[in-house]
Amino acid sequence: MSRIQMKNPVVEMDGDEMTRVIWALIKRDLLEPFVELKTEYYDLGLPHRDETGDAVTHEAAAAIKKYHVGVKCATITPNAQRVEEYNLREMWKSPNGTIRAALDGTVFRTPILTRAVSPVVKGWKKPITIARHAYGDVYRATEYRVPGPGRAELCFTGENGETFRKTVYDYECAGVLQAMFNKDNSIESFARSSFEYALDRGEDLWFSTKDTISKQYDQTFKLIFQRIFDEEYRQRFAEKGIEYFYTLIDDAVARVIRSKGGFIWACKNYDGDVMSDMVSAAFGSLAMMTSVLVSPEGNFEYEAAHGTVTRHWYRYQQGERTSTNPVATVFAWSGALRKRGELDGTPELCAFAHRLEKATLDTIESGVMTKDLALLSEIPVKKTADTEEFISAIAEKL
Ligand code: NAP
Ligand code: MG
Repeated sequence: MSRIQMKNPVVEMDGDEMTRVIWALIKRDLLEPFVELKTEYYDLGLPHRDETGDAVTHEAAAAIKKYHVGVKCATITPNAQRVEEYNLREMWKSPNGTIRAALDGTVFRTPILTRAVSPVVKGWKKPITIARHAYGDVYRATEYRVPGPGRAELCFTGENGETFRKTVYDYECAGVLQAMFNKDNSIESFARSSFEYALDRGEDLWFSTKDTISKQYDQTFKLIFQRIFDEEYRQRFAEKGIEYFYTLIDDAVARVIRSKGGFIWACKNYDGDVMSDMVSAAFGSLAMMTSVLVSPEGNFEYEAAHGTVTRHWYRYQQGERTSTNPVATVFAWSGALRKRGELDGTPELCAFAHRLEKATLDTIESGVMTKDLALLSEIPVKKTADTEEFISAIAEKL
């Protein structure tokens, strides 16, 4: 059988622990037999990040800007315990954070639906994608524990020395105080990434804030989205037959629950943090959640939303065969290959991505699945497979 050829490479970022094992299996059994893989390989595994002083992460980000498509394995974000475990020279930053900052991108998380697991919300028939603005607000706020009576003020000094000063509150007792910020250019990137991704998926874009209460802060988000939509995207949305829809966050929550799904919901930083966990829990399993980082220029990086599945890795190291779910990582690869095919004009690569996804879902729906899904499954489970058996079953279908 002749293998499918690729014109341009995808940027391949290897990772850590159990997902690194899965990564190699997917390549060996599901990709390389069918596609002559062209990748530019970066090893973001923690030992190699440490050896290179994390330069490899920055190089990978630069490569995504060059080739426009990347696929990433889950990686360890080191904490004090990891510094000891891996004998690290430094507590390196989160690779996802580094890549997101370099691409100025927004993360979109989408559940993978299968007939074996139905969403807790019965009406949801299509995936709901959450876009989270991952900059500023409460995550970068300055906080103060007010010790007792006194005046809190908000003060801004412009470069020209002009000042703005307003009383926040005259405390008559102890309390708390917080100041947070955001920037127009970050909100603009968030808006463009969201509009780009809606066009990419051919789905409506919803955006919600609380602008009725927050008349400057949230209002700014609303106005920036509207301006960029009117100036840059209205025409393209009309051609694609999709809509941009703004509503208040509380109205959005009610509509989302009553909806059939099939749209992208852009959220401010905190709303996105909360809503993405709510949506993923209601759809079933973290192991069935994909994640795409989209930059305003239209660079795409695909990965699974879950981590390196450390608990399984420690058992695997003891020689145990684990039943770790590879589906989100498979879909990261299929997403990247489909995008590569679209950009390069190689429909056979897009068709392969589709077949890979179908073979994966068909395998689950035939009753062969990993343990996490077997526990949730509403169809008869024929076999609770370990990771390798499950991947082999997909390969057979392919
Ligand atoms: P995790 O790797 O997502 O795993 C948490 C738990 O969720 C697992 O112990 C497992 O539950 C279940 N799970 C997640 N993915 C699964 C899968 N594919 N198949 C089956 N079960 C799955 O999160 P974590 O343990 O908090 O983090 C581990 C490491 O991953 C950390 O070092 C963290 O820094 C890193 N991380 C990386 C990324 C990323 O690169 N994008 C994201 C998050 C975390 P059971 O043990 O109950 O089976
Ligand atoms: Mg969260």
